[in-house]
Order: sequence, then structure tokens, then C-alpha cells
Amino acid sequence: MQAQEQKKIKFSGTVISVQPRSNVWRYRLDNRNHGTTGYNIFIRGNAEGKEPDSEFVVAISENNQKKVHFRIGDEITGTAWTKKYDKLEYADYYRAGALKKISESNAKECSKAPWTDEVPELSVYDQRGCRMLDARTWKSKCFTCKWANMANVAIEYDWGVSQRFRFETFCYGPKNCVFYKMGKPRAVPYKGDDSSYDDGCLDEMLTYGRDDEE
Ligand code: SF4
Repeated sequence: MQAQEQKKIKFSGTVISVQPRSNVWRYRLDNRNHGTTGYNIFIRGNAEGKEPDSEFVVAISENNQKKVHFRIGDEITGTAWTKKYDKLEYADYYRAGALKKISESNAKECSKAPWTDEVPELSVYDQRGCRMLDARTWKSKCFTCKWANMANVAIEYDWGVSQRFRFETFCYGPKNCVFYKMGKPRAVPYKGDDSSYDDGCLDEMLTYGRDDEE
């Protein structure tokens, strides 16, 4: 994979969503492992190298979020680095620093989906587990929800020899959420076998122990 030259940039704008940032590893239908690594902050504003007033995503660490408590509607500034590998990372920028809240959102606590209050600690996501979420629903109904997730996915295509990469959408929210839609089964190709599809069978296992309303 061709590495790209990295550059430090400055950004500013309004937070339009905060979601967990995660890496998922798939191996046939035997394994789908989710690991959270911080948060993706979706921003509308200005960043070097982007058109003015555009949407972009900055990955921040859990420690960053504990200090700044970003929420939808906050006006923020910071620095970050461009990506080394486009295929491996959904966020446009990572290694964020100098994060500052210029003005705070006056949004009220929310009592129904999409859940727009502050994101919980990563351990909460890890304990809850997630289900596949239809990509269009992620963008339309769920985009502002703290339980929505766009994951960086690596598929073990030829064990120890090659992997395939893509981005997938998931939901860590209550199972009875009115907006929830699984979407189509997802192909999990392996060398010589293109017929395996994750049709939600792994979701049950990964959210085992959670009731419908949890
Ligand atoms: S389906 Fe999931 S991500 Fe979407 S609004 Fe409901 S809880 Fe949030």
C-alpha cells in the first residue's frame, strides 16, 4: 500500500456529529472483532486543503474528549495531521492537538433517538457491542446519534498474506430503536470463496445479554 506524505493542518468549525471511532477485523463468518480507538468528530467548517465551509472528520483520542467534552453545536478549533493511508482510515485527519472550544452548544439533553447527548466512555461501547446498520440510514436518520458508528474494516482475505479494506456502518444503540435498519447482508470474501455473507448472525452474538430497550 502506497503511503501518502503527511501534513499538519489547522481547522475550525461547528461539530455536527460525534461518534466512536473503531477498527473492525473480519475473518470469514467466524470472527468480527470491534475495537474502539477514540472518537470521530464530524465538523462543518474550514480545514487547510478543503473547500471553505465543507464537511470533514477529525479523529480524536478518548483523553482529548475527556478534556474538551465536544458536543453537537460546539464551535471548535484545532490542529491535526492528514492520513498516511486513505484506505485504512475513514476520518480525514487524525493525531489532533491544540483542541479548543470557542463556543458551547446550548442543545438540551435529548430523550429520544437519535441520541445527541455527549458520547460515553469507550468502555461503554465495548461492553454494549453493536449491530450492522444500513449505510443510508446511518447518513439520514442516525448521523447525529452517539450510538452510530462508521468503522475502519480489515477483512482477512488470505490468512497472513493479504487483507481487504472498507468502511462499514454499525449501531451500538437500543435494539428497539425506531430508526434501526440492518440493511443488506454484507459479503465477507475469502480467497476462493465469495459466497459468505454476514446476514446479522454475528450481531446477535456481539450484543448478547442486552435486552430490546437497552
Ligand atoms: S438506529 Fe442506532 S444509531 Fe440510529 S438512531 Fe437508533 S440508536 Fe442511534
